[in-house]
Amino acid sequence: MSAAPLASYAFESLDEGVLAAIARPDGVGVCNSGLVDLGGPPIVFDTSLTRQSARELWDGTVRTFGRPPALAANSHWHLDHSLGNQAFAAIPIWGTRRTREILLEKRDELMAELRISELDKEIRGLESQRAAMPSADAQRDLDLVLQINRALLQDAGNVSVTPPDLTFETRQRLPGTRGAELICFGKGHTEADAILHLPRERLVFAGDLVCIGVQPSMQSGDPEHWQTVLDDIEKLAPERVVPGHGPVIPLGRVQECRDYLSGVLAAAEGREQAPLPMSLRRWEGSVSLEGNLKFARQWLVDRRRRG
Ligand SMILES: [Zn+2]
Repeated sequence: MSAAPLASYAFESLDEGVLAAIARPDGVGVCNSGLVDLGGPPIVFDTSLTRQSARELWDGTVRTFGRPPALAANSHWHLDHSLGNQAFAAIPIWGTRRTREILLEKRDELMAELRISELDKEIRGLESQRAAMPSADAQRDLDLVLQINRALLQDAGNVSVTPPDLTFETRQRLPGTRGAELICFGKGHTEADAILHLPRERLVFAGDLVCIGVQPSMQSGDPEHWQTVLDDIEKLAPERVVPGHGPVIPLGRVQECRDYLSGVLAAAEGREQAPLPMSLRRWEGSVSLEGNLKFARQWLVDRRRRG
């Protein structure tokens, strides 16, 4: 037994040999992950943000399946889903080709952001912003960002951005008897997100292509094609979807994520007076609705230019 407290996740059993690790709001993992016995090798889907949470995912795999993970995978390059790769460096890590390329391209820039002095500065700035906020609701929006930065500060000085070393383009059948597959439907939340599909169990681990109750960042991908990707996920007809952030949902609730994207695009085009229905505007987030709107306005201008 590990002495480390298992604090970052609520582990939820979805089927025999299939666990969702749902990130707790007070934990240091930040994103949800999946622990799956592939029918032979166990895999960890999304390695989380910090060394501690990555260790919790590793230990959770050992405790549940009686053996350590043999594989890991990243849904996309954002650090809350991939920085934990450093704790999985001894085993192969799958990701899309573009996810690997982006992490290689951005490695120096990301490492600079992870320096102690930068994190200290960021945290002090966020704390004074938070203190100046008028309501608990507004403060809550900053709490996730603060939590992320405090967790990173714990690891600072001992961090390495580690890209996945095994790559695929569109579909990758995984080893084992379960018939699990990694699939990329093209641009969405980022330039090339991967989902983990378990066809027999009718489950999808969607990464941040699906976020529920948490505003998804729209700034690394394609907010229009993202909606087509959600169609593609629906066509797989899973019964349940594990989002990158938020609770496990029945397939029908994927529509909420589509409503968020189409609502932001409509507001950015000036087609709607109010940016979004209040129920979606109240989603918490490390990104602001204003940031997504600003990005969407520029994205629409660029698209018109491209013709
Ligand atoms: Zn993300």
